[in-house]
Amino acid sequence: MSTDETTTSAPHSGPDMDPEEFRRYGHQVVDWIAEFIAHPERHRVLPDVRPGDTSARLPASPPEHGEGMDAILRDFGDVIVPGLTQWNHPGFLAYFANTASGPAILGEMLTAALNNNAMLWRTGPSATELEERALDWLRQMMGLPAGFHGTIQDTASISTLVAVCAARERVGLDIRDQGMSGRDLPRLRLYCSREAHSSVERAGIVAGIGRAGTRTVETDAEFRMDPAALERAIVEDLAAGVKPFCVVATVGTTSTTSIDPVPAIADVCERHGLWLHVDAAYGGAAAVVPEMRWVMEGCERADSLVVNPHKWLFVPMDLSALYARDPQAIRRAFALLPAYLVTSEGAGVTNLMDFGPALGKRFRALKLWMTLRYFGAQGFAERIREHLRLARDFAAWIDADPAWERMAPAPFSLVLYRHRPSGMADDALDAHNERLMDAVNATGEIFVSHTRVHGRFALRLAIGNLRTDARTIARAWRILRDAAASVG
Ligand SMILES: *Cc1c(COP(=O)(O)O)cnc(C)c1O
Repeated sequence: MSTDETTTSAPHSGPDMDPEEFRRYGHQVVDWIAEFIAHPERHRVLPDVRPGDTSARLPASPPEHGEGMDAILRDFGDVIVPGLTQWNHPGFLAYFANTASGPAILGEMLTAALNNNAMLWRTGPSATELEERALDWLRQMMGLPAGFHGTIQDTASISTLVAVCAARERVGLDIRDQGMSGRDLPRLRLYCSREAHSSVERAGIVAGIGRAGTRTVETDAEFRMDPAALERAIVEDLAAGVKPFCVVATVGTTSTTSIDPVPAIADVCERHGLWLHVDAAYGGAAAVVPEMRWVMEGCERADSLVVNPHKWLFVPMDLSALYARDPQAIRRAFALLPAYLVTSEGAGVTNLMDFGPALGKRFRALKLWMTLRYFGAQGFAERIREHLRLARDFAAWIDADPAWERMAPAPFSLVLYRHRPSGMADDALDAHNERLMDAVNATGEIFVSHTRVHGRFALRLAIGNLRTDARTIARAWRILRDAAASVG
């Protein structure tokens, strides 16, 4: 960050930064952010650093005396930023690309300034009510029925953990109060497809189900959970004395964005009285586009559903939305009321601390509310529709070029593909495409990642940043083809 060298700060005297000093550096920081947004090309999307490079430039001991903001901001610009992977860069096409939009960045600044902790309604009245209202707006935008109550969790992993704990309590074994060890309990079983996110298995670890308590169900040729296989697994478990309690279906799997057949899975869950949790961390955002609503088919029958605004709804990390049809089921799994947190509002208000493992509640709703208002439902739909269109274009280019091959259907904004020079065997193709990926990422212009599809190395191109446009994708296609030529 360029700073005015002549204004070296005097040693700090007040308890905190002086308000005038704050104003001056606040303007500098906002200017830096505006430049960063205006000129992403000045930053490599994947940094040119090796492990330890940044540490080597950081003092091993803390400063004995306070330093001036000029020096601190200079090091931010010189040492920290060049060592960062730039997630908020239009050339970020790896994993699931996302955006810290302008209104959301401003919301984060205000959240930091207010430092509100809405653990109780009393400690954050409007923060609590804004969280419920903003999530209800998002519920309507996705076409989920009224009655789904939303709370904000930090990540989808925690949202899914919360849902699994609520599901576990509905079994009636009183595990939250009695625990699982030292008791004679049946094994509990949680089901998800083999394409489900690792957060499902981890939720099982944390909820005491154990990895052995999570059973993966086979998928079809397009990576969707096979509901008949799910039912067979449940019947087999019941016969063996195992107690099924929960199924996690995925709308937009992480590896290939496949969509599990939620209506058929909901039928199975209803037949066996199982909690249905839908992981729509990425894919749920697409439902904001009217012609994509179909991806949520059957989700109205879920007990809970997670969607991540920090993934494809333009708010920065971290903000995950967990919806539950019966919010009391979540409270029953988590609510505790120590004497020092009793308030005269009693049970007449929502106390957000009751809805998950954390007590403290960061005021995340502000950035969501500001972003929803700034773009509006139509603005969201237009932007996501454009990402879908860009992905379709890219998929069409791959399909039209005999030297390239598509590796999976692309229902959302992620395309899976590989370079396939004629005559190269599958094993050689894996190594070839990995070299190709490394060459592309070494340019610093774009960043793409990979996965395995049917055991084969596949490149992923994920579109989700608001500043990624047709030029970015055309440029990515050029870089990919150049790299394919150069790695041979
Ligand atoms: C990204 C993703 C997650 C994990 O999200 P976090 O918020 O990082 O925990 C879970 N499920 C799916 C389907 C995802 O794509």
